[in-house]
Amino acid sequence: MNSTTPEHHPQARSSFTPAVGFVSLGCPKALVDSERILTQLRAEGYQVVPTYQDADLVIVNTCGFIDSAVEESLDAIGEALDENGQVIVTGCLGARAEQVREHYPDLLAVTGPHALEDVMRAVHRHLPKPHDPYVDLAPPQGVKLTPRHYAYLKISEGCNHRCTFCIIPSMRGDLVSRPIGEVMQEAENLVNAGVKELLVISQDTSAYGVDIKYRTGFWNGRPLKSQLTALAGALGELGVWVRLHYVYPYPNVDDLIPLMAEGKLLPYLDIPLQHASPRILKAMRRPANTENTLARLRRWREICPDITVRSTFIVGFPGETEEEFQQLLEFLEEAELDRVGCFMYSPVAGATANALADPVPEPVKEERYQRFMECQAEISMDKLAGKVGQSMTVLVDAITASGDAVARSAADAPEIDGTVIIENGADLTVGEFAEVRITAAGEHDLWGETC
Ligand code: SF4
Repeated sequence: MNSTTPEHHPQARSSFTPAVGFVSLGCPKALVDSERILTQLRAEGYQVVPTYQDADLVIVNTCGFIDSAVEESLDAIGEALDENGQVIVTGCLGARAEQVREHYPDLLAVTGPHALEDVMRAVHRHLPKPHDPYVDLAPPQGVKLTPRHYAYLKISEGCNHRCTFCIIPSMRGDLVSRPIGEVMQEAENLVNAGVKELLVISQDTSAYGVDIKYRTGFWNGRPLKSQLTALAGALGELGVWVRLHYVYPYPNVDDLIPLMAEGKLLPYLDIPLQHASPRILKAMRRPANTENTLARLRRWREICPDITVRSTFIVGFPGETEEEFQQLLEFLEEAELDRVGCFMYSPVAGATANALADPVPEPVKEERYQRFMECQAEISMDKLAGKVGQSMTVLVDAITASGDAVARSAADAPEIDGTVIIENGADLTVGEFAEVRITAAGEHDLWGETC
């Protein structure tokens, strides 16, 4: 909408076409919701405009995951109201409609996440759709907010777990898997439109199909079970990179590793482990067998030696003792994960963990966070240093003004991992695969040259 908004869609405005402004905040899952709404708006003939002044109304897709995201979302709503006045709120914060209305009683409508129909109903009520919808304007792959060569593919919504630090199930509800035929059709459309990398997302990717009892669906007339391994195998036939995110550590994850070894899936697993102390894991209501996790990691590496394992952890969870934190550091040293994110526990309003005894004081949380990061930095750096001299395939994301190509390898998911900087890459094009030889390694990134 202006320089402070994260997403916008510049387009010339004709005086006959109703125009909608769009502000998209939050995680990749919210981004997919935004893409659906934008696709529907375009399909019905609305224009999506980049400034508040040109818009007849503004939709704000909000995030409510942590307190700072709530603040950012409330600020964005306030800005849209000041600048335009006609505002529809959707997304995770919208699930707490009372809180939003308390701040801003004059909103046109407030809906929760994943509420395409409710949002469109509100748009129709306040800004009737044009009589002659430009259906042809929406390409079959939809309107994408990501660069053209990669796209997020959301396979389900909601989550059946009740991790005590998380309020996502209360905002987004229990697991609802999309029919496998629909997911595969969307993936195929994206690939036909030029997408080179599909990033599979959901709140709980491993649970795909549990809610619909792994029902058999059809893709191009062929029966397929709504189950993660079947879905991953079918996606692997599309001839593009397929990367799995948010894979809860269920035993069925083991079945994916052979597909990675065969080259059908990228050898990359984003598997949030959250802690290593059995007591803390239990208090988090997460799988608590750390020995088993280490054994599984070893097995995965035997089957697929190139596998990159990314994980996230929480330090300073209520009641975490120094000894339990040490257990976590020892686990890190033994597990030698490639990519690791760490969060200091922060009490999100509505999370059941807030009621647990012995909250960890802020300075202790910070000190543990620093020690955690230092421990992992060494491991990650050693792992990256081990890649110098190797050749690898990368996907080019951008060409800089100075003529470097910025690319990613199989080990790098967009936005969250590192990059491969190709110093002689000026002639490459965005969205192209290239073969590079790695010449140097830093803390997060690699440098290389085309072979
Ligand atoms: S599995 Fe993920 S989304 Fe589900 S409750 Fe746990 S942290 Fe939240």
